[in-house]
Amino acid sequence: MASFDFIIIGSGILGTFHALHAARAGKKVLLLEKDNRPVSATVRNFGQVVPSGLGGRWYQYGRRSLELYREIQQEYDITVRQNGSVYVASDADEWALANELYDRRRADGYPCELWSKVQTLATYPVLRPDYVQGALVFPEEISVEPDQMIYRLIGYLTTKFPNVTYRNNAAVVGCASTADGATVQLANGERFQAGKVLICNGSEFRLLFPDLFAQSGLVVSKLQMMQTVPMPEIRLPGNILTGLTIRRYESFEECPSYANLQTPDHLAELKKWGIHVLFKQALDGSIIIGDSHEYATATQTDDLGFDTNDYVNQLILQEARRIVDFPVDRIQRTWAGFYAQTTQEIFEADLDNVHIVTGIGGKGMTSSAGFSEENMKRFL
Ligand SMILES: Cc1cc2nc3c(=O)[nH]c(=O)nc-3n(C[C@H](O)[C@H](O)[C@H](O)COP(=O)(O)OP(=O)(O)OC[C@H]3O[C@@H](n4cnc5c(N)ncnc54)[C@H](O)[C@@H]3O)c2cc1C
Repeated sequence: MASFDFIIIGSGILGTFHALHAARAGKKVLLLEKDNRPVSATVRNFGQVVPSGLGGRWYQYGRRSLELYREIQQEYDITVRQNGSVYVASDADEWALANELYDRRRADGYPCELWSKVQTLATYPVLRPDYVQGALVFPEEISVEPDQMIYRLIGYLTTKFPNVTYRNNAAVVGCASTADGATVQLANGERFQAGKVLICNGSEFRLLFPDLFAQSGLVVSKLQMMQTVPMPEIRLPGNILTGLTIRRYESFEECPSYANLQTPDHLAELKKWGIHVLFKQALDGSIIIGDSHEYATATQTDDLGFDTNDYVNQLILQEARRIVDFPVDRIQRTWAGFYAQTTQEIFEADLDNVHIVTGIGGKGMTSSAGFSEENMKRFL
């Protein structure tokens, strides 16, 4: 049986970065992916790397992730662009939160700017003047192209580190701790062993330890996304996050006036569907618009459905029309993405030499690189 220091199950962003940090430490690593290529949350997202939206230790992991993304980009093109993030406030409450977060981030030396309405509209003329109060800007934050980044990152990992083996079409259906390590078994019967096995299974709860996941408190969130046709005539220099995002992201929850924040009537239906509106221009000029959030427990994920709900997409587009004045309904595709989340920041279970790490929620593209570096220290 082939033997490794680490076997990592799941080549989404979380598994791949754990593999990378193990490889950097000189360990012999096997990274296993059940699908032909990863097609889950890691390729279905916006690709906004925005530590500014995170709270607590996740903000620090996000900042470290920015450094790691940039470091790798210097060696190998993983689609990193430093184009900044812009939170556009639309009313007095959101503007107050933007000012409070600005003070906090400035105090800890994280580059940020507050733009007046005039400055915001000068840089983003596609924004509607009647929406904008002002903007909080993080010029050093980055974007990646979600439909390419993970494939490039796996390419970097396997090219740079001869101590890494990557296997796709390798669904792991058995995993057990042994006296001196752990073994895994693939669906085709192949078996491997390692000192440690890390399971970074995203929202797949049926192949391994289904009883544990049923009791885990993990839930799955379904998000609806849309992408316009290429619009090279429109220029969005950075990632646009909007008033509803200010009302939703953890970092703003840590600000003093958040406790008194009320939801105005015109946002109530959007809030019910977990909608906040974000815009991200892809390299071909198309614009990704989203998103919404619906939830199901780990055992009931099928209830979320495989379709996208047009009513929800129309709610997103209706709000988008209030924010920007380009033709947001020139949609070329829509999709749903699913991620696992927990009320405990992330789900971790240690079963002797088998360690489960999943449920990073909506912060995986931003914080996985830095979090995995810290988490691997437990095992090295
Ligand atoms: C629509 C949407 C928008 C988002 N936008 C952002 C954003 O802009 N910024 C941000 O920071 N985050 C964003 N996120 C969150 C981010 O995408 C996730 O946090 C992250 O991708 C989760 O990564 P993961 O590796 O845990 O899971 P996944 O991407 O689900 O990867 C898990 C992998 O494990 C494999 N696997 C599972 N079980 C097995 C098994 N038994 N054997 C072999 N392989 C297995 C799966 O096939 C899969 O490839 C968004 C998410 C969505 C859905």
